[in-house]
Amino acid sequence: GGKAYSMMVRCRIPGGRITSSQMLAHLDMCDELGDSTMKITTRQTIQLHGVLKSDLRKTINRINEIGLSTLAACGDVNRNIMCCPAKINDGIREQLNQLTDELTIALAPQTPAYHELWVEDPETGEKTLEGGGEPTGVVEPLYGPRYLPRKFKMGIALPEDNCIDIYTQDVGFLAVVRDGKIIGFNVLAGGGMGTTPALKEKTYPALAKRMAFCTPDQAVEVAKAILKVQRDYGNREDRKIARMKYLVDKWGIDKFRRAVEEYLGTPLKDCTEDDVTGFDDHMGWQDQLDGKWSYGLNIENGRLYDNEKVQLKAAMRAACKEFNTELRMTGHQSIIFTDIDPADKDKLTKIFSDHGVRLTEDTSTVRRWSMACVALPTCGLAITESERYLPSLIDGLEAPLAKLGLDKDRFTIRMTGCPNGCARPYNADLAFVGKAKEKYTFYAGGGWLGNRLAYVYKDLVPADTLVDEIVGVCSAYKSHRNEGESLGEFCTRVGRDELESLAAAAPRP
Ligand code: SF4
Repeated sequence: GGKAYSMMVRCRIPGGRITSSQMLAHLDMCDELGDSTMKITTRQTIQLHGVLKSDLRKTINRINEIGLSTLAACGDVNRNIMCCPAKINDGIREQLNQLTDELTIALAPQTPAYHELWVEDPETGEKTLEGGGEPTGVVEPLYGPRYLPRKFKMGIALPEDNCIDIYTQDVGFLAVVRDGKIIGFNVLAGGGMGTTPALKEKTYPALAKRMAFCTPDQAVEVAKAILKVQRDYGNREDRKIARMKYLVDKWGIDKFRRAVEEYLGTPLKDCTEDDVTGFDDHMGWQDQLDGKWSYGLNIENGRLYDNEKVQLKAAMRAACKEFNTELRMTGHQSIIFTDIDPADKDKLTKIFSDHGVRLTEDTSTVRRWSMACVALPTCGLAITESERYLPSLIDGLEAPLAKLGLDKDRFTIRMTGCPNGCARPYNADLAFVGKAKEKYTFYAGGGWLGNRLAYVYKDLVPADTLVDEIVGVCSAYKSHRNEGESLGEFCTRVGRDELESLAAAAPRP
């Protein structure tokens, strides 16, 4: 007897690169072992929800059988590394993927326990995978006996394409490109989203700081050195302030950099002036520059499901079977189908249309740039709805935004069910963070570039007044914005109090 505990199983998929057959296997698993839906996460990976405890081994085994892993997808280690998912044959994206893979291997825990526990046969001890789980003889040369004080997140981006939200990462590598070649990286350190509202003074979201420049050859060693500094100096007394951002803040980025250089054994140069200037969500058709095309399909909140109207899972299955090409998951919970012949473009989009799936081209700008975390009913930390509520909130916004003439304006709306911030709310133009039952903290002033924090505009806003509050802010923006000013820039310029009175007075369309 006893309770049937159900779990979430998250994969590690560096840079969100996955084959069609791996996707098909995940769709099978979510039907056979999960709650029949699949979630593409904000870190370019896949979560299966509602896996029974008794099915955990079987699920993790199957994930390993298809050449993926759940090792280091959770826990106080380096998590899934994010990287720009665009497949563009520009000689640069491929190098970024290589670095992602090198870092994934270099920073992976070495423990054989994962395979012993989850992959080997429990009765015979037999390894179900070729070569899997060979004891290394050296236990955790990098992590040591206690692993890291807290989770650790990394991302790799290009200045003109910050689609992995580099300023929210513990460590970010921003490629510095000269004459079409990567000459190195500006290394950012100390970003992170999570907060604990009861501990307002000592926990806060932080943007990463620009630390130093490194050459491509140095990148892996620099990442290891940063990880070691956090391992040895990060706070282990208080888990609430154990993320590296608090160490970077306490020390300041200069002292932190000197510690990194000491572990590295050599000084680093200062960052170049290169910084983020753009964000491409890679949706719709993109030319790969190699004769093939990619299609980015916007998937609302990353959730794949089938119902009477929309058969996203069936469409995905059909597209994977038909084309059998590589897929890439984006940091905005969406998916890119790569390597499509120009002659097959209509065939792909027809598969989606035939299954009631809304094409990216038919998706409103506000919906396309929105993002929600899992929250209720499956996330144990959730205080409010998020993923189940945001779509209807967007429904309510589309008509007023169109009437205001703002339906082509790109701004980010992000929602999370608690302050942990899994959908990276604190640097969005507008964000709603679950605070109490059906009440949200309303943040304003970030932006799609991801390099500015939002401020608390209003607290404890009831869910059923959110649409009106947002329309008020957007209407004020429409009437009072400066030339070329984005929504987040406007909110930042006028500030909280002024925004509140402008929004209250603004006409509702
Ligand atoms: Fe759960 Fe909070 Fe993360 Fe949402 S932000 S998925 S509610 S932990």
